[in-house]
Amino acid sequence: MGIAVGRGMPDIVSFDICVVGAGAGGLALASNFLDKKLSLVVIESGALGRRPEPSETGAVSAEGLAYAPLTTSRLRGFGGSTQASGWGGLCKPLDAQDFEPRPWVSDSGWPFGLDQLRQYYQRAANTLGIGDLETLAGRREAFPGRSSVLSVDSLELCRHYRLGNHLREPFARSGGVQVMTKVTLLYLEFSEDGHSISAVVCADADGRLFRIRSRFYVLAAGGIENPRLLLVSYRRAQRASGLVGKYFMDHPRFTIGTLTPADGDTRAVLARLDRIRVARRQRVASWLGLHRERRFLLQGLTLPFEVQRERKLLNYRAWLEPRYSGQDWQVLEKIKLAFLEHRDMKILNGQSLGWGTLARQDIGWTKGMHLARPPVLARSFRLHHFLEPEPLRESSVSLSQEKDRFGLPLASLSWQLADNTLNSLRRTIDIIREEFQKSGIGRLDVAPEEWERLKKPMWTWHHMGTTRMHDDRSLGVVDRNSRVHGVNNLFIAGSSVFPTAGNDTPTLTIVALAHRLADYLLWIVSRS
Ligand SMILES: Cc1cc2nc3c(=O)[nH]c(=O)nc-3n(C[C@H](O)[C@H](O)[C@H](O)COP(=O)(O)OP(=O)(O)OC[C@H]3O[C@@H](n4cnc5c(N)ncnc54)[C@H](O)[C@@H]3O)c2cc1C
Repeated sequence: MGIAVGRGMPDIVSFDICVVGAGAGGLALASNFLDKKLSLVVIESGALGRRPEPSETGAVSAEGLAYAPLTTSRLRGFGGSTQASGWGGLCKPLDAQDFEPRPWVSDSGWPFGLDQLRQYYQRAANTLGIGDLETLAGRREAFPGRSSVLSVDSLELCRHYRLGNHLREPFARSGGVQVMTKVTLLYLEFSEDGHSISAVVCADADGRLFRIRSRFYVLAAGGIENPRLLLVSYRRAQRASGLVGKYFMDHPRFTIGTLTPADGDTRAVLARLDRIRVARRQRVASWLGLHRERRFLLQGLTLPFEVQRERKLLNYRAWLEPRYSGQDWQVLEKIKLAFLEHRDMKILNGQSLGWGTLARQDIGWTKGMHLARPPVLARSFRLHHFLEPEPLRESSVSLSQEKDRFGLPLASLSWQLADNTLNSLRRTIDIIREEFQKSGIGRLDVAPEEWERLKKPMWTWHHMGTTRMHDDRSLGVVDRNSRVHGVNNLFIAGSSVFPTAGNDTPTLTIVALAHRLADYLLWIVSRS
């Protein structure tokens, strides 16, 4: 047991439970079995190590909106995408209203409410290394006594943000859990009656095929790979795939509007909503080994739930970026794009643009102020909006004509946004603008050409919704226990089961649902 490269496997191996994927979802689930008598295997297509590899999932379709390359959106290795450079480790539970059916949000509502997830959120907080969840619940007035509409919500930067590094030792020591790295699941095989999975076909580290048989199977391979594996398996078995792959969601983000504070007090409040400053402090504390007990909380600008309900809006938050006199915003955008390119190159071929090239991206005032970010010198603030997307069936993952190295179809992603999502943002910005003006706190200016940005959303690398949860099998892929409808022993872990997305950061909820699924599996086993 422990962690080992999966090589020279016999034709068939057997376990009680087989988990596919050693990312946040798979590892959190498996961590519940470290001291149990059951045998559980986690198969992981990537390696154990600090440098994760790009994914092999598929490509972005030209039919949808522009999106990050899928190869660098998800990473392979022990710890999955949490090992990625760029993974922020931002955590927050979903809000209570995210679970409710809201008549103004199509296909909204989970089969259970926040109350049923609360104890699992607490366990997830321990796994990821965050403090008490009360601090992260609800919304507070941003300007008490001046505006009851402008609110803030809170997030926390988790301490175990490289989850693979954090969990490596307990997994390496485990007697009951075995992690096989460099083993890739190719497809699932159905039993003769079609009601269960009889085995999974995998390729070992040398590309040799073998089968794993177990009582239960859990797909925890990420929000694009989960539906791809199901679609490939359903196609091979000539089964209808229903809603598998439909309703792909990510949190779209846009930079629109400039806030100018009316006075120094207001500026001080707004400067606290600059998440980059807090994130940098956390990284420095982490390098110095000082972050163990400290909490790093971030706040964003949002609206109270009552206002969202009254005005029929989707969930929302904005981060604020300080703007200094003399900064050239086109140069700043170029610098940010260069860093994205740098990240992708590092993942794809281990090379970087080179710190020299990056440093040369405008060694001037714009970059200097962007790095230093002194709150007292901020003249105004740009608004980075993060939105809850309305679930949309047409936004989807399907199988493409392209094949992977095993000859199986790759995924094709067509990301789309409902009109309701974009209208909700327009109306939210209008409300914030009115409220700033009414309360005399400051001024929000939106240049007419800025609305054009609504046509080109930026993504957030959160892959959700493609095996959505619903008790009615015609409206979902998994039931309330994350079991695939119609397949007794197949379960799904990860944000692909989310029916709605909240306003940000899926990983804490992925981990909470994984603990919940672990308890459910233990309960089933204890009865049999
Ligand atoms: C740049 C970036 C920043 C992010 N920032 C945040 C943030 O601040 N907060 C937040 O909540 N979320 C963030 N996310 C999203 C976060 O990374 C994901 O929500 C989380 O990693 C998903 O966990 P998962 O276990 O479902 O999938 P993954 O972490 O992707 O793990 C899936 C694992 O399955 C393996 N696998 C896939 N296919 C197979 C196969 N066929 N056979 C065997 N193994 C397979 C993969 O190799 C991988 O290791 C960010 C993502 C990125 C890319």
